[in-house]
Amino acid sequence: MEFIQKKTADPAVEKILESAAEKGILLAWDRFEGQLPECGFCETGLSCRDCLQGPCVSHPFKDSSKMGVCGKDKDVLAAQTLLRLALKGTLTYLDRISDLVHSVQSGQIKPKKKTDADRLIKEFGALLHDGGTGMKKEIPRAIFRRWEDVGIAPEGMRRDLFKASQKLEGGVANAEEILLWSFKVSLLGCAVQTLFGKMKTAILGETVPANIEVNLGVLKKNVPNLLLVGAFSPALKVKLVEDAKKKGVNTVAICSDPLFPSFQLPLVTNYGSQEAPLLTGAVDLVVAGDPFVYPSLMALAADMEVPVVAAEGLKRAKSLDVFAKEVVDKVKKSFDVRRNIARDIPESKELSCFGFSTATVDVKKIIEALKRGQIKGIALLAGSNNVKFTQDLELTTLAQEFLRKDILCLSEGEASVSLGKFGFLNPARKDVDVGKGVSKLLSSLGKNLPSVLDLGSSEAGGVTPFLLELAKVGKKEFKDFPVFAVFAEANRSSEVTEALWTVAMGVPTYFWPALPVTGSSKAMEFLSRFCQDTFGAKLFIPTEKKTEARPKANFILKEMIGETVPRLSGYPWKEKTK
Ligand code: SF4
Repeated sequence: MEFIQKKTADPAVEKILESAAEKGILLAWDRFEGQLPECGFCETGLSCRDCLQGPCVSHPFKDSSKMGVCGKDKDVLAAQTLLRLALKGTLTYLDRISDLVHSVQSGQIKPKKKTDADRLIKEFGALLHDGGTGMKKEIPRAIFRRWEDVGIAPEGMRRDLFKASQKLEGGVANAEEILLWSFKVSLLGCAVQTLFGKMKTAILGETVPANIEVNLGVLKKNVPNLLLVGAFSPALKVKLVEDAKKKGVNTVAICSDPLFPSFQLPLVTNYGSQEAPLLTGAVDLVVAGDPFVYPSLMALAADMEVPVVAAEGLKRAKSLDVFAKEVVDKVKKSFDVRRNIARDIPESKELSCFGFSTATVDVKKIIEALKRGQIKGIALLAGSNNVKFTQDLELTTLAQEFLRKDILCLSEGEASVSLGKFGFLNPARKDVDVGKGVSKLLSSLGKNLPSVLDLGSSEAGGVTPFLLELAKVGKKEFKDFPVFAVFAEANRSSEVTEALWTVAMGVPTYFWPALPVTGSSKAMEFLSRFCQDTFGAKLFIPTEKKTEARPKANFILKEMIGETVPRLSGYPWKEKTK
C-alpha cells in the first residue's frame, strides 16, 4: 500500500475485522489492497470499453496511443466517464420509483391517499415522457431559467436518458457538450428522487422522526434474524416486516430507508461494513436488492451457511403474500438449522433519531439564526463509505469540526447511519462538541433534537425538499445562503448524480474521492468555470489523496469565508497544468 490507513473508525466493525483476519476471510478492505496500485487510466477517466474495438486508453506519454481507436481524445474520454456514472445513477433512482409505482399498479399495496398517489403516478408518467411540469413549478424560477439557457433542464427520459446514452456510442459532441449531458441526466434523477419522497407519503403514509437503534448490537442472539440489504420494493419490505413480527423474527437492514409509518427498521451497519453482520454468525437469512449490495455477500453467506434470497424473485412468485411468507418461514428454518453456529454479536448500538423534514423543523428559525450570525452556515452531509478512507472517520470528523464552529449539520441516507453510529443523531448527546450558536438553535427548534438532523434517506426524498423550502422561506437562491454539501466518503454512481444536481442547484459541493475526470485538464477547467459562472457554486474535485479530515474541514470553512484554498478545484487548473 502507498500509505498506512486504519480500515474503520467503528470499534464494533473493527472487532469483526480482527475475527475475519484470524479466520483468513477476505473482506472489501483486503480486496482493495489486492487491487493496488489502481489502474491510473480508469481512475483519471482516460479509459473506455464502450465498443468491442477496445478497450482503449489515452496514454499521457506514448504518442501512438493518445486517442481511442474511434478517435475519442482524453477530454472526451474523461467527460464520457462522468456521463456514464451520471446515467447509471439516474437509472438507480428510476428503478426505485418504478418498483414503487408497480407495487401500486399491481395491487400489491393499497395507497393510503389514493387520489394523491394516482396524481403522482400520473406525474411520474409525464416526467418520463416530457420531463413533466412538477420540477419547473418547484425550483426557483431563476435557477430553472439558467438550466434552460444552457440546455440542461430535464426534458424526460426520451430526450435526456436515451439521447445522453447515445453520446457514449459515438458522434461529434465535444467534452464540454458531454459534460452538459451529465448535468441534464442528473437533474432528471433529482426530479425522480423528489417525486419518490412524495409518493412514499401518499402510498405508505406520513412518517415522523423516530428513534432507531443502529449498529451490530441490534442483532439478537436467541431469535431468528432476517437481514434486508439494499433498495428493493417497499411493498415487499412492509410485508416481510409484518410477517416477521408475527412470527418472532427480528428484522434489521443495511442501506435501506429505515422509516415506515407502521414500523422502523434497526440499521445493523452501513455500506462499507455490509459484510460484517454475516460474520457475527447471527444472521439467519439475507434478502438482497441490487443497488448498494456487495456481490461478495453470496460467497460469504454460503461460507456462513446463510440462505440468500434475491428480492427480484418476487417477480416469479405467485403473490407478494406467498413470497413474504416463504421467506419468513425460511428464516425460522435456517435459525433451527444454524443452532450450533456460534453467535458472536458486538454489544455496540446507539440510539439515533431519523427522519426530520420541513414539516418538523422550522426553516424560518434556521434562516433567522443565519441572519443574526448565531450560526455561520449549513452543511449537508451526504454519501456512503469508500474503502479509500477510514470508514466513518471523514464524516464524523467533518461533522465534529463544523458543529464546533457553529455550522448547522444536516445529513441524509448512509451519511446519517455513519453519524448515528457515533452518537451524532442521539438526542441524549446533543450538546457534545456543539458550538453555542448551533446548540441554541437546536433547542429553539424542538425538544430533544440531536446535534445532527437527519433529513431522511434518498427513498424519502433526501435533502432537496429542505433546500426548496429554504429558498422559498428565505426568498433567495441557494447560492446566496452559506450552505454547502459534502460527500466525504462517496462511492456509488447515484452519489455522483446527486453531487451534480446539488451543484446545479447552486450549492457548493465537495466530493471525495476525486471524480474520474482528473485526466483531462480541459474537463476539470470546464467543470470549475462552468459551475461557478452558471450555477454560482463550485464543484470541488480534490485531487490530493492524503489530506486528513480535519484539514479538509478547514479548507471548507476557509472557502466559505472567501479565503483561497489550495489543492481543491476552483484552483486555477490552467496554471497548474502548464
Ligand atoms: S468506443 Fe472508441 S475509445 Fe471506446 S473502446 Fe470503442 S474504439 Fe475504443
